[in-house]
Amino acid sequence: MDLKLQMQHYINGKWVGADSEKTRDIINPYNQEVIATVPEGDETEAKEAIAAARAAFDQGDWATTPSTERGAIVRKIAELIERDKEELAYLESLDTGKTVEESRGDMDDIAGVFRYYAEIADKDGGEIIPSPIPNSVSRVVHEPVGVCGQITPWNYPLLQASWKLAPALVTGNTLVMKPSEITPLTTIKTFQLMEEAGVPAGVVNLVLGAGDTIGAELSSSEDVDLISFTGGIVTGKKIMQAASSNVKKLALELGGKNPNIIFADADFELAVDQALNGVFFHAGQICSAGTRLIVEESIHDDFVQALVDRVNNFKLGSGFDEDTQMGPLISAEHLAKVEKYVEAGIKEGATLAAGGKRPEDPELQKGFFYLPTIFTDCTTDMTVVQEEAFGPVITVEKFSTEEEAVKLSNDSIYGLAGGVFTNDIVKAERCAAKMRMGTVWINEFNLYFPHAPWGGFKQSGIGRELGKLGLEEYTETKHIFQNLKPEQINWF
Ligand code: NAD
Repeated sequence: MDLKLQMQHYINGKWVGADSEKTRDIINPYNQEVIATVPEGDETEAKEAIAAARAAFDQGDWATTPSTERGAIVRKIAELIERDKEELAYLESLDTGKTVEESRGDMDDIAGVFRYYAEIADKDGGEIIPSPIPNSVSRVVHEPVGVCGQITPWNYPLLQASWKLAPALVTGNTLVMKPSEITPLTTIKTFQLMEEAGVPAGVVNLVLGAGDTIGAELSSSEDVDLISFTGGIVTGKKIMQAASSNVKKLALELGGKNPNIIFADADFELAVDQALNGVFFHAGQICSAGTRLIVEESIHDDFVQALVDRVNNFKLGSGFDEDTQMGPLISAEHLAKVEKYVEAGIKEGATLAAGGKRPEDPELQKGFFYLPTIFTDCTTDMTVVQEEAFGPVITVEKFSTEEEAVKLSNDSIYGLAGGVFTNDIVKAERCAAKMRMGTVWINEFNLYFPHAPWGGFKQSGIGRELGKLGLEEYTETKHIFQNLKPEQINWF
């Protein structure tokens, strides 16, 4: 495929190289080949991009452009993503190792996100509220926040970017995006598409490079009004601290250690299928992966056996092979991290029922592959049950009562998402009401769509993406009161 990518930063409507001439190789996780070389920016480019976004917000027309016109541009971006879907899917799979079929699905979802926000862009005209004074008008309007810093992770590079770009744009903000330094390709391509769609210069800016330089500059800059971050909890805490510099608005989408409760009365085959999909899709590198299975005692052994039988037959391979079900992990460092969690599981007394090592297949030795791994005899105090391995590792805990299942599900610092499988709908609703997490699926796992808010309770984050709440993150609320018949107060 002919990739006409400008491997550069995009600042103030221009494609520019790094001032320092430093570069970074982008690696294919399937075979460790270099697929692209991009400039490595730092605080210098970040400051230039922030200045461009600041000027576009303060002196440009974007914030006051009618929302219908902004919506039309965002709709055009959706159309261009659909037009270039194959190229984008190819790039995403090359960069992340995920199957190209999955990447095609991501691109459909991404276009859907841009379309959803384009459609609701002009539906909010504010609100007239009751006034305590006769002959007055009291109204509430929503305005853009200003300059937004947007920092994204490597697991769903463009999907996570779309959840930030679309709502920020339709509400009239300007922005600087910093994609993960290891997976920038589809974001670069999308900035080309935004340029083609007619987004004015300075409104969207892209800086490529590391988190502790560019990300830190965005988080601490007094010219940035909001940070929207998706990534790990350790980075999220650093960003929160840095953002206190000018009391920025914060939207944090952090990790998850998501429980999936399987009751004995669930449809067994459906629950097995969804439990596997819930964790091993994209090799478990999903914030909402159902990595903590909580299974009712009476079906526990059969359930585990069914999981083991299935995972031992998974087809690992290139994301471009039609048969491949699971690709590699993202990097050598990440593979080492997953191995460390598996070692901890074994050391702390969990039983390895499947996987627990790299595959021996000679075809897979160049890639960062890890076998799908199942731990049984798990307890909530184990590191592998509490911390996010972010890989193809599932832990299984047993329960005997509904109360116990709910208690286990909530025994985590995280609260992103969880699932309940049962054919007793009343029981399902009782559990859903008590599970402390931003999304609860009943007889389903890992489904998200543009209309439904996404985000976490507890340490899984602050704020919401997607849905109307995802739009509200990018607006300030202003109350305008007008007295049509003013009178003197005569107090002083
Ligand atoms: P990460 O925190 O290492 O990096 C995320 C981004 O932050 C990258 O762009 C990185 O360069 C940047 N960064 C690093 N240090 C920074 C700093 N000091 N200041 C500012 N930015 C900095 O996360 P990752 O490894 O790329 O992604 C995996 C994590 O993302 C997992 O924990 C996963 O659960 C989480 N995630 C959450 C969601 C969600 O919706 N809640 C979605 C996807 C991923």
